[in-house]
Order: sequence, then C-alpha cells, then structure tokens
Amino acid sequence: MISSQIGTALRRWVDSGAETVTRSGAESRSIDWPRVVPFVAVHLGCLGAIWTGVSATAVAVAVGLYLLRMFAITAFYHRYFSHRAFRTSRAAQLAFALLGSSAVQRGPLWWAAHHRHHHVHADLPVDPHSPVAHGFIWSHVGWFLARENFATRQALVPDLARFPELRWLDRYDAAVPAALAALLFVAGEWLERTTPALGTDGWQLLVWGFCISTVVLWHATFTINSLAHRFGSRRYATRDNSRNNAWLALITLGEGWHNNHHRYPAAARQGFHWWQLDVSWYALRMLGALGIVWDLRCVPAAIRDSGHAGPEGSRP
Ligand SMILES: [Zn+2]
Ligand SMILES: [Zn+2]
Repeated sequence: MISSQIGTALRRWVDSGAETVTRSGAESRSIDWPRVVPFVAVHLGCLGAIWTGVSATAVAVAVGLYLLRMFAITAFYHRYFSHRAFRTSRAAQLAFALLGSSAVQRGPLWWAAHHRHHHVHADLPVDPHSPVAHGFIWSHVGWFLARENFATRQALVPDLARFPELRWLDRYDAAVPAALAALLFVAGEWLERTTPALGTDGWQLLVWGFCISTVVLWHATFTINSLAHRFGSRRYATRDNSRNNAWLALITLGEGWHNNHHRYPAAARQGFHWWQLDVSWYALRMLGALGIVWDLRCVPAAIRDSGHAGPEGSRP
C-alpha cells in the first residue's frame, strides 16, 4: 500500500495524470510531501553557486529568463488563459503555453483553473490561497503543495481543454522545465568550449539560469497571492481583500494592480492609468502592433472611474 503510494507520487513528478483524484475532507489541507521534494531541490540548487561561481553571462541569462517567464505568467497564463483578455492564433497560443510552462508553475489548464476558482471565491474559506482565510505562509507556498490542489479543476477550463496540445502540456507539466534545464546546461558547455572568455559553463548556467532565476520568479509570483491581498491600497470596493501595490507591480511586470484586476478581471491592462506601471500591458501592445495578438480588452471608463472603496470596503 505504502509502496504503491510512493510509486504514484514519483510518477506524478513526470505525469500529473497519474491518479488525479482530488482528495477531500480531513486530508484536504495536508501537504503532499513528494511534491515538496522537487520544490525544495530547486531552492537548494541555488547553493550550487558556491561551487560554480558567477559570470556576467550567467547573471544576464538569469535576469533575461526571469523577465521573459514573468511576462509569460502575467500576460499568457494569467491574462490570456485564465481571463481570455485578448485573442490570438492557435500557433501563438501553443507558443504562449510553452513559455508559460517554462516558469515551472504547472501546466496552463491547472494554473488557469485554480485562478478562475480564486476569482469566484476570493478570500472566502474555499479560496485555496487567501492570506485572509488561511494565513501568509499557506497563501504563499502552502496551497499548491496541498493534496486537494494537485489535480487540474477540469470543469473550470472547458474552453482550454478543447486543445489536445494544451492538455498534453498540462499533463506532462515537467517536460518543458526539464527541457529548459537541459538546454541551459548544453548551452553553457558549448560556450565554455567556443567562447571561454565568457567564464561560464554548463553547471553555472544551470544554477543561475534555472535554479536562481526560477526561485526568484516563484516567490515574486507568489506575492500576488499572499501580499497583494494584504498590503497596499484599495481603490475599489471589491468583495475580496485585494490591494493595489506599486512595488509588487514593479517586480511582477504589472500584476501588483491587483485591486484594479479584481474590479475588472477581463481587461488585458491592469494598470488602469498611465502612472500605474504595467510592463506586460506595454509588451502586449507591441505584440498587438505585430499582429500576433488582437482584441486586447480594456477597462470601460465607467468602471475605471467608479466609486472609491470606503475604509472598511473589504470582505473579512
Ligand atoms: Zn487575487
Ligand atoms: Zn486574475
């Protein structure tokens, strides 16, 4: 019995479709410990920098992959797959899903389904990552390691599940991260042989480009669940506890305007005013000018200019 449970847990590292029954009841908020192992391993991998050292190339790759993958999370996983805030071709949709998968935050269906669930139940007890209902630690790093949140909430993403390529990426959600790690290692080894003056190698690019970049990307993303429902200002009297926070908008390329977003989730733009920095929106406008995306939805002026939140405007 125990060995079969371990076997299932290990299979889920590469095949999230292995036994996807969502557990409930007393077990529901229990941590799925085999899922913790790769999460902690990537954190520990950052310590590899002690042995690999650092180079300008490694830092540039880490920063570049942070920015690219943060953009993929906010513009594609969040604004496109979760909220359908703009339209694109099927080929570009697949490219967006591949880029989003490289952020190591599970597949596009899993991400979008849990996020849609969050919007319906924000800051109520059934919201899996509400800091108001479940505390900071759980909202930041606990909820996605819980057994009850392992499976994709298929009923919430029928529009995405129509596409077999998206279903495949969602099921084998470790494939793209593994390919990225391998690519970084091979590229680093190749650079060491061809351009030794750069001072990099495979292990160094693996540590900086994958481990360090991904860990920073993770925790920056998680702040929108944990901090952006706790710290900042409330421009709109939404039913939840969402906040606008310029610092979080800066590190997440625009996601920190979270109170705006809960007021009008359908918009591709989350900084509702020119002074609300929303880098993802500017980049989406560029993709729009190139004809790669279209029908970018904006917030109606009547909603943008609607009444202010009172001092007690939040749900619990
Ligand atoms: Zn939220
Ligand atoms: Zn959202």
